[in-house]
This record gives sequence, C-alpha cells and structure tokens, in this order.
Amino acid sequence: MSEKLTIKCAGCDKTQPLRPRKVERYGGYSCRACGFTAPTPPDGSVIYTVVHAAGGFRGDRMQVADPETQAALQRARALRDAALKRLGELN
Ligand SMILES: [Zn+2]
Repeated sequence: MSEKLTIKCAGCDKTQPLRPRKVERYGGYSCRACGFTAPTPPDGSVIYTVVHAAGGFRGDRMQVADPETQAALQRARALRDAALKRLGELN
C-alpha cells in the first residue's frame, strides 16, 4: 500500500489525503468551498487554475505569460477600459 500525501487548502484548514499519482503538481491548492481566490499575479504573469488537480481541490500555478497570452491580455484590458469609459459617459 502506497503512502498518501496530505494536500491542504490555501484558504482554510481542510485537508485531503491522496495517493501521489492522484496529485498534479501546482503551486497551491484550494477546496473551492471556502471562497479562496489566488492572489493577483504581477504584470506579465498569469495564474492557471485546474479543477480537480488534487482530488476535489483546484490547483493554481503562476507563470510568466507567453507572447500570445500577453497580446490577449492587452486586448482584454482595452475592451475593459473602453467599456468603463462608455459607462462613465452614460452616467
Ligand atoms: Zn478551503
């Protein structure tokens, strides 16, 4: 019988024992029930979240955004800024 890892939620005290082969390696894990959200990454980085990375826990991994993701972020920010400006004009 293999030894189990204990995965702990980053937002609360909930833990989950799992066999190592059932755990994908991520920077942090959360249970979803406590409402934990990963911190905002620094400019130029993004956080990838995978559901069920470790049993019922989500896994979060921060990494530097590739050029394609950087371009998508710039387009999203431009859309957000245009919408906020438009909302400001309506009020
Ligand atoms: Zn939790």
